[in-house]
Amino acid sequence: MPVISRLDLRDSTPADLGPRALREVLPRAEYDLADALDAVRPICEAVRDRGAEALREYGERFDGVVPPHLRVPAEVLAAALETLDPEVRAALEESIRRARLVHADQMPQEHTTRVVPGGTVSQRWIPVRRVGLYVPGGLAVYPSSVVMNVVPAQEAGVSSLAVASPPQRDNTGVFAGYPHPTVLAACALLGVEEVYAVGGAQAVAMFAYGIEVDRPSAGGDVEELCAPVDLVTGPGNVYVASAKRLLRGVVGIDAEAGPTEIAILADDTADPAHLAADLVSQAEHDPLAAAVLVTDSESLAARLEEALEAQVAATKHHERVTTALSGRQSAIVLVDDLDAGRAVVDAYGAEHLEIHTRDAAEVARRISSAGAIFVGPYSPVSLGDYAAGSNHVLPTSGTAAFSSGLSVHAFLRGVQVVEYSEEALAEIGPRVVALAHAEDLPGHGDAILARTGTEARTEGRA
Ligand code: NAD
Repeated sequence: MPVISRLDLRDSTPADLGPRALREVLPRAEYDLADALDAVRPICEAVRDRGAEALREYGERFDGVVPPHLRVPAEVLAAALETLDPEVRAALEESIRRARLVHADQMPQEHTTRVVPGGTVSQRWIPVRRVGLYVPGGLAVYPSSVVMNVVPAQEAGVSSLAVASPPQRDNTGVFAGYPHPTVLAACALLGVEEVYAVGGAQAVAMFAYGIEVDRPSAGGDVEELCAPVDLVTGPGNVYVASAKRLLRGVVGIDAEAGPTEIAILADDTADPAHLAADLVSQAEHDPLAAAVLVTDSESLAARLEEALEAQVAATKHHERVTTALSGRQSAIVLVDDLDAGRAVVDAYGAEHLEIHTRDAAEVARRISSAGAIFVGPYSPVSLGDYAAGSNHVLPTSGTAAFSSGLSVHAFLRGVQVVEYSEEALAEIGPRVVALAHAEDLPGHGDAILARTGTEARTEGRA
């Protein structure tokens, strides 16, 4: 059986297919979001109704361990930083430095537009007050996701920030029952003090509803363990993504950043060994991860198949990678030419899109849908996963068509501030009154007329 299947679109070019039909034929993960939603609904309700008790139960059921404390004690965070491998510390520090450069530059400027003399509208940006940041930790652990969540939140000026990550059953000593020590060390490195040993949908519910401790405090009041947040961000598996979709509205969310996807648009100039390595690198995240090559070169497709066979056999997470590559979410898609290829990747809207073609920068400029674009042979997705400076929390399942990767913007609210003088209001007043009457909302007009001194025109009173 081939490592990855082929989808030949050369007889039905995207020009005939159109984006909707294309989306139907293109490979996507087999999982049914409706099933995952059914699975996470009772989890979220139990956390809402039974709080800390439910969190401990789910820790035991899904992570195989009950944390000694749901909130990680300060001394455990400090111990994680003290025992962090110096090489990993140096790498995390460089990743943080680069991410800060990029995210600081994203900060929008406040500005004031003088609409007329005496009439201004200013745009202010106000950080979200309190955020909950999810850091995955099921099949792999993700200190890099601590950086990708925390840095934009801090750069945006968020004042209250909590992290949650699944407890690890293999932790020993002081770390037993807590998230992975490298995740804790990354939190400590960034000055995050509020960290919870809670994973999956239950972490999203904890952030959305807030958790009270089940023991009353000395005063008889119920103590608060985790105050509810205004926004939950971060990547995760299908359960985390479903919980975010389910609780959107109870709490804000960034985007649905579910199982990883990589799409590559390549021509015959691409190096198949590089492409194979990049497809394997994303397939090792999750058996549901998607890896897609779109090419107009039959010869590249054949050479990639060979390279994949060799690399998959040698890779550490062989089983997970094989499942991901052989799943119906992964394929080599053959197209007539690069224009057709562009239409395919636009319709697919991949989380990560690599461009390996002649004039890669020019091709990239014409792409209209992707979470992040990696241009040319020396910008692999793994670089972006850890240390390009860009963010790795990106929209999946085609949601790049309407949502963005994590940035400072996710943590900011734009507020318009309107200030008009008496003269400026008088000048525009008759126009406002005319529109108010056109909408049969004469009270709106009266609110203007009450200030500009003209008699009220509300029907029945004028
Ligand atoms: P995770 O922390 O997302 O999930 C682990 C949790 O899933 C467990 O704590 C458990 O609570 C829950 N869970 C497991 N089985 C369950 C079940 N049967 N029912 C209900 N809940 C269950 O860690 P993971 O599993 O390693 O997944 C990480 C994911 O994050 C991968 O899919 C990876 O591709 C993705 N990712 C995405 C991005 C992005 O930006 N899109 C970035 C990094 C990672």
